[in-house]
Amino acid sequence: MSKISIQSPFYILMHECDNVAIVANDGGLHPGSVFPSGLILREYVPQGHKVALVDLAAHAPILRYNVAIGYALKDIPAGSWVHEGLLRMPSAPKLDSLPIATRKPLPLPPLDGYTFEGYRNADGSVGTRNILAITTTVQCVAGVVEHAVRRIKVELLPQYPNVDDVVGLEHTYGCGVAIDAPDAIVPIRTLRNISLNPNFGGGVLVVSLGCEKLQPQRLLPAGTTSIRKLNGETDDALDVVCLQSEEHVGFGSMIDSIMAKAKQHLARLNERRRETCPASELVVGVQCGGSDAFSGVTANPAVGFATDLLVRAGASVMFSEVTEVRDGIEQLTSRAVNAKVAEAIIREIAWYDRYLEKGDVDRSANTTPGNKLGGLSNIVEKAMGSIVKSGSAPIAGVLPPGERLRQKGLIFAATPASDFICGTLQLAAGMNLHLFTTGRGTPYGLAECPVIKVATRSDLARRWHDLMDVNAGRIADGSATIEDVGWEIFRLMLDVASGRTKTWAERWHLHNALVLFNPAPVT
Ligand code: CA
Repeated sequence: MSKISIQSPFYILMHECDNVAIVANDGGLHPGSVFPSGLILREYVPQGHKVALVDLAAHAPILRYNVAIGYALKDIPAGSWVHEGLLRMPSAPKLDSLPIATRKPLPLPPLDGYTFEGYRNADGSVGTRNILAITTTVQCVAGVVEHAVRRIKVELLPQYPNVDDVVGLEHTYGCGVAIDAPDAIVPIRTLRNISLNPNFGGGVLVVSLGCEKLQPQRLLPAGTTSIRKLNGETDDALDVVCLQSEEHVGFGSMIDSIMAKAKQHLARLNERRRETCPASELVVGVQCGGSDAFSGVTANPAVGFATDLLVRAGASVMFSEVTEVRDGIEQLTSRAVNAKVAEAIIREIAWYDRYLEKGDVDRSANTTPGNKLGGLSNIVEKAMGSIVKSGSAPIAGVLPPGERLRQKGLIFAATPASDFICGTLQLAAGMNLHLFTTGRGTPYGLAECPVIKVATRSDLARRWHDLMDVNAGRIADGSATIEDVGWEIFRLMLDVASGRTKTWAERWHLHNALVLFNPAPVT
């Protein structure tokens, strides 16, 4: 992108065939503004919103990313503001005639020599943080666990300087649910696999109520990998504190039991040491939240560049958010490494289509009021900007929601787009580093794993200077290229993974709740 002074009227064109472009200037542009191309604005256009580059006749396709993001509802003269009220949204692509592994992208050249300092676990996975997690089987125990966690932080944690934090894995599942319904497997395996996240060191401490539907043995059945007793030997016996157990007389004794067990786990975790690991041990989840029209121009392309660097370094990278890639599905099926992977993409999307149909959801459900204020007219436009996060590598695999990832390369992890649910499912997949882009701004963070946040606009990065870790808005300002910011993100990932740098969300202890995806009925 050429260097252009941000003072002069300036728009960003994504593809030479596009008939709209987005206004780049902070604060938007007023009527009469003249662009370098000679185009004159007819009315005020806010920053990030679209301007018609040519006269558009009624019913003409509105092209951005060389894709019809909608059709003109009436004649739109050149220089007009093309907002959502002037567009008819296209229907969703059909799933029965998609290109299957047609694009055959060449494998990217390997990228060797990049390392980070991580905590290697007995099962081969690598943590980027050293955290005591307390698994819960049911929401009923949440208050007790929260109380225990508070006391552990004050009374025990200072004695174990190598342990970063203590986290209660609280959730709203476990009872009052149709636990034998076929789709109940999703929340159950999500909770199971989160307990085994590499940042928790392989040992599991469970707090159970006693009478709940999700019994500890059902959550973590015999043979679940990586369940290790304190002597280091694999054993099926679970380390469980059961609140209804007769040994507990009074609240104090429940807390004493949790504290005693926590002490043993803290001692084990305190022995962990960081060691040099290849960048291939990173398991990175990418997603976006609070998107605007700059997401697909600055932050997401820079993340896509970093995604390619990770794939080249042999790491695992997940992109997700089914409803945000649905409209660009042919870009995914054509990029699949083989027919089996393309069919798995279609299978997951078809499952999600049926799930949305059950709830009578229409296509306007994704795109928030903030997305629209930020210039995104509809889900088609949002999807085109969202897919860019996945970079250019072949799609090597597909992961159903809640499953643990055991594959390198670029993976489509099928999750809802909801920030909290997507992050929770990526944690279950084994994510040890999270990359998050935002245009409108969100203080999103997770207690279980570091979250690097990338701002799409310099204005946001300036105002939220102590919340945003990377400013990709410099790409629109003309002061950095996509490659510059992509490399900056990649190097920052290695520093954050090593514990050398803390993200802003970590420094302020900004932690969002785990939110399970439960497509099964509640009773
Ligand atoms: Ca999201």
